Amino acid sequence: MMLRNRVAIITGSTSGIGLGIARELARAGADIVLNGFGDADEIRHLRERLAEEFGVRVIYHPADMQKPEQIEQMVSLTVSELGRVDILVNNAGIQHVSPIESFPKDRWDAIIAINLSSAFHAIQAAIPNMYQRGWGRIINIASAHGLVASTNKSAYVAAKHGIIGLTKTVALESAKSGVTCNAICPGWVLTPLVQKQIDAIVQNEGITLEQAKSRLLSEKQPSGEFVTPEQIGEAVLFLCSDAAQSIRGASLAIDGGWTAQ
Ligand code: NAD
Repeated sequence: MMLRNRVAIITGSTSGIGLGIARELARAGADIVLNGFGDADEIRHLRERLAEEFGVRVIYHPADMQKPEQIEQMVSLTVSELGRVDILVNNAGIQHVSPIESFPKDRWDAIIAINLSSAFHAIQAAIPNMYQRGWGRIINIASAHGLVASTNKSAYVAAKHGIIGLTKTVALESAKSGVTCNAICPGWVLTPLVQKQIDAIVQNEGITLEQAKSRLLSEKQPSGEFVTPEQIGEAVLFLCSDAAQSIRGASLAIDGGWTAQ
């Protein structure tokens, strides 16, 4: 119950990695603000299940991470309903895969807005509340693509490199406070975001789902295994611990060896 009485906002937590992080933080006793898109009934069930299973308060805010004013409303609602913001996990993200010559301009704008600018807006809204109480944890979910590039992912790679720069700057600005800011850089995690890329390989190359999965892994991830949302959640939990107080501006690769190559 390390995080009892702490309040955590996790953006993009109706699915995948964000949901894995929300579960680990709730398991540790934190009250949770869920955010992200999805079916209203499913989101209500998710909220109820988390609250019942871990005995914590769980609210949901539907802020669209492309809209700065909605991000500010989410932070304000958190403070008015749950009293404070202690932990901010900037996780919401989307992907689009295409060579730069044909990369749709609206996908570039959306990826930069959701995967990068939303973190700026959320940090700007939340960090004064953390400074007030002298404690806070900001954790940005970047990617192996924040450290190295791949073809056909110009917007994603630019946004993820950008969020690592943002992480370092916020870490320096907050260095003398109890607020820390770090990035986590996952390799392949089998979530809907990656499933879409696997489905595209199956369709374009006429191979089976299993063949497409092992092709994806063998190209980049030496472990040959997907990283799990639970493993990312446990790393977030560690960064929220007192032991991590001096970890500032770091980019922690959890990528099965991807960026060691
Ligand atoms: P996912 O598609 O399973 O989940 C994305 C979440 O973001 C969902 O809850 C979705 O509703 C939400 N979201 C999307 N657009 C939004 C918007 N405009 N406003 C609010 N919420 C929005 O994806 P995931 O794989 O769990 O990805 C989560 C994060 O992890 C992303 O930042 C992604 O870039 C990063 N990441 C994923 C992988 C991977 O292999 N899956 C690897 C490295 C980094």
